[in-house]
Amino acid sequence: MRLVMKFGGSSVGDGKKIRHVAQLLMKYYEEGNQIVVVTSALGGVTDMLMENANFASTKGKVTLVKEFKTELTNKHHEAVKEAIDNPKIAEEVLQILDIRIDELEKALIGICYLGELTPRSIDYISSYGERLAAPIISGAIRSLGVSSTEYTGGEAGIITTGDYGNARPLEKTYELVEKRLGCRLESQIQVVTGFIGENEDGIITTLGRSGSDFSASILGASLKVDEIWLWKEVNGIMTTDPRIVPEAKTIPRISYSEAMELSYFGANVLHPRSIEPAMREHIPVRVKNTFDPLFEGTLVVADKFQCRHVVKAVSLIKNVALINISGAEMAGTIGTVARLFTTLASAGVNIVMISQGSSESNLSFVVSEAHVEKAVKALHREFNRKIIREIISDKEVCVVAVVGAGMAGTPGVAKRVFGALGNSMINIIMISQGSSQYNISFVVREKDAIPAVRTLHQEFELYNGNGI
Ligand code: ASP
Ligand code: MG
Repeated sequence: MRLVMKFGGSSVGDGKKIRHVAQLLMKYYEEGNQIVVVTSALGGVTDMLMENANFASTKGKVTLVKEFKTELTNKHHEAVKEAIDNPKIAEEVLQILDIRIDELEKALIGICYLGELTPRSIDYISSYGERLAAPIISGAIRSLGVSSTEYTGGEAGIITTGDYGNARPLEKTYELVEKRLGCRLESQIQVVTGFIGENEDGIITTLGRSGSDFSASILGASLKVDEIWLWKEVNGIMTTDPRIVPEAKTIPRISYSEAMELSYFGANVLHPRSIEPAMREHIPVRVKNTFDPLFEGTLVVADKFQCRHVVKAVSLIKNVALINISGAEMAGTIGTVARLFTTLASAGVNIVMISQGSSESNLSFVVSEAHVEKAVKALHREFNRKIIREIISDKEVCVVAVVGAGMAGTPGVAKRVFGALGNSMINIIMISQGSSQYNISFVVREKDAIPAVRTLHQEFELYNGNGI
């Protein structure tokens, strides 16, 4: 098979884990598969980079940069020692790392003096996580006797728009990747940095947080692989979070659309944008567990698998807040909603869920908890008590979503959802269902969130394989 395999930050969290990943890759390669690897940064490194870039621009202390440099160097050197046995290869990799860390140090010191951090510099700085991980993984593979080369996303052919922090691949990427990587698939395992690309001027861009899945999907679509494997630390996509319901089961097959609904609503397994390139080439995406490689995981495919019980999964989103706005004048005032959401967009507020009743005199929406203060402030400034009379926010809430393609056109699902919650004495604060009918989402008080998930998992008997 021709495969793209992506490893997340925890899968390559330290040297021991990288060694395990290299052995896993060697096994699949020796079985005759052609493999391109996409790697994330070592767990936590992207956050560290962003935090230190912020420190540099706000505090301007070169001593802090030096401390960070030491921490980063130690972490990656340690990983090399644990992952690579061959001393010559280890030495080569250490040299590459040191050169890159020196460059990073210079950039951070520059930011200290300038005191400003542009989106372009944030992308440049945060790209170092993956650029330090890829040489170690490639070296670990070579140390096991398999030929391997490492590439940045740009070198591999991922050419993007110039939207720093949120870049999108240009159409030419798909051809370019095939040209650059396609010819070497048989002779070696190529390792590509996830998360990053470059724009047409060769400046580094990033594809958004958790963007490595997106990179894998872009490379997979370009190389027309048989499957894209996303190696994570979980047993595939599950009927719900196993920390909430220990009997949660892995869903062996799920459609692209269902997987997208789940990720929209916080399951955090796959981001919708990361499925898109795979979807356009109908390439199945498999979510597997790095620490249980024999387990099949979940296969995300084009077909919609209807099952006897229509609900496949229940997901919970925490760290959200509800905002309710009301005003008698809102009814019939054309353009209010446009103004409302434009104001929120300009303030950089992410909206998770929306609901407006037909009275039109109040509208509720859910935002990321971190955005609630700026959202309320921006709305007060914009409307100044005209049209919108009252703005109330509430942080002590969570969103629960029930997902399944079989729900579309099946009467009685909502009755079961809300009936079961009613029997458990759980109050619903807000409801939203898109007309795709694949997802019913609702807001409950924080204290009711876990009982709500458990109630629904039980109601739809997902624990005995019914979501499957
Ligand atoms: N390292 C990047 C992040 O933490 C991308 C990724 O891990 O997918 O967001
Ligand atoms: Mg909250």
